[in-house]
Amino acid sequence: MADFDTPVLKEYPIIPLIKKGSMAHSKPYVAKPDIQAGVGFPGELVDNWQEVGVKKLGELVSGSRALQVFLDTCVKCGACTDKCHYYLGTSDPLNMPVARQDLLRSVYRRYYTFAGKFFPKLVGAKDFTKDVLDKWYSYFHQCSQCRRCSVFCPYGIDTAEVSMAAREILDTVGVGQKYCNEILGKVHKIGNNLGLPKPALVDTMEGLEEDIKDETGIDVRVPVDQKGADVLLITPSADFFAEPHIDGLIGYAKVFHQAGISWTVSSYASEAANFSMFIGSNENLLKTATRIRDAAYDLGVKRIVVGECGHAWRVAYSFWNTLFKDMDFLDKKYPMPSHICEVTHDLIQRGALKINKEANDHRRITFHDSCNVARGSRMGNIPGGQFIIPREVIKACANNFYDMAPETIHENTFCCGGGGGLLTDDLMELRVKGALPRMEALKQVVDEYDVNTFVAICAICKTQFAKTLPYYKFDMDMITSLHQIVGDSLELGTND
Ligand code: SF4
Ligand code: SF4
Repeated sequence: MADFDTPVLKEYPIIPLIKKGSMAHSKPYVAKPDIQAGVGFPGELVDNWQEVGVKKLGELVSGSRALQVFLDTCVKCGACTDKCHYYLGTSDPLNMPVARQDLLRSVYRRYYTFAGKFFPKLVGAKDFTKDVLDKWYSYFHQCSQCRRCSVFCPYGIDTAEVSMAAREILDTVGVGQKYCNEILGKVHKIGNNLGLPKPALVDTMEGLEEDIKDETGIDVRVPVDQKGADVLLITPSADFFAEPHIDGLIGYAKVFHQAGISWTVSSYASEAANFSMFIGSNENLLKTATRIRDAAYDLGVKRIVVGECGHAWRVAYSFWNTLFKDMDFLDKKYPMPSHICEVTHDLIQRGALKINKEANDHRRITFHDSCNVARGSRMGNIPGGQFIIPREVIKACANNFYDMAPETIHENTFCCGGGGGLLTDDLMELRVKGALPRMEALKQVVDEYDVNTFVAICAICKTQFAKTLPYYKFDMDMITSLHQIVGDSLELGTND
């Protein structure tokens, strides 16, 4: 199956002894010139890359007080060292968050601090050499920007921000990552990560309507480009075709159907994901998000609802209000944006859904908090709403729910191992090893409660787990969309 050893599952937490350089070989494919051009970066390493890179670093630091504080503040207390799933899974000391930060911090010190300019050795300052650049490419693509380390840092230093800055500098000097940049180019051109054009999207949605009819006997619509619908659903394009994502989309459709809410997806903005965040590019972030605003305006919807996608919800929740200038056309009665879990939760609270919990009695369920939802957003405008609401929805639709160990859920959640733009087969070893802490926590509830259903609300987590569960001898079908649990429990009645 693979040319690396899958780690052995032990009782969490096991902090490994360091193995220097054990993941030095891990790096994703570099983007070719045409891919780089699609996202506005040079096609290959520019001649004066040192000068360009150092200048970009200066611009990023002077443009972000947070980044400057993160680079200036670390006191090397060590509290973050054993908190990264990639360190726990690979033992490579450069996967300790502080060491990862230092790859960039040492260059910042060399060019932008007094001590680093004149006494570099004393303060760990380093020249921006080709060896350093190569290490950046390798180890800043071994960070899923999950922010777990920042929860444990006494100063809140966020390695995700450092990693985004490093990737933006890499792109600026012409060394971009193929996976993220190729996908972003497709979104700019066609509207979704897959490059799925409108006729194929319409065809897929019609097929889905037929599948639901076959399963339930009910005419449930999955509309595309329906002008004047109340809701524009922005969901990851994986929901249109991948398993188990598609069952989540069927669940959303059933919820809207039973609640009598008119809705549509857009063929112009048929993607919730915004990989620009992973590469730290504000220009691409704005360009990608603007398609959604324009689609909402053109379709004349009242509200925008975001489907099950972790980083998309973070971008929507945390950045849309600053990215979008004019959203006055939306109905102010509704929160902007809304998460599909908030919509379903609200309908459940109001008794607007007819639920048969016993329909899920064959399931013994646990829930994986996705990083960008857990540590980068909120739901329901209440503290911890992003933890409470998904669990309340599951418990309203199913009888058997068991949380994993407290040190591995809520704000302490472990990344699936494939977030932050690392969900590519060229990083499979990293993905499998990075999944280790989550797999250890999963094993505990499987052993103790016979858990057989592993629910997530993130397209990346679902794809990552579908691929990595078998490495740890779990059934890949365990991974389930939250809205499949909801959809399976709904009593849709008849067509009348
Ligand atoms: S942000 Fe996540 S992946 Fe990156 S260093 Fe911190 S814990 Fe590791
Ligand atoms: S926990 Fe914070 S201050 Fe301590 S070593 Fe890590 S990044 Fe530095």
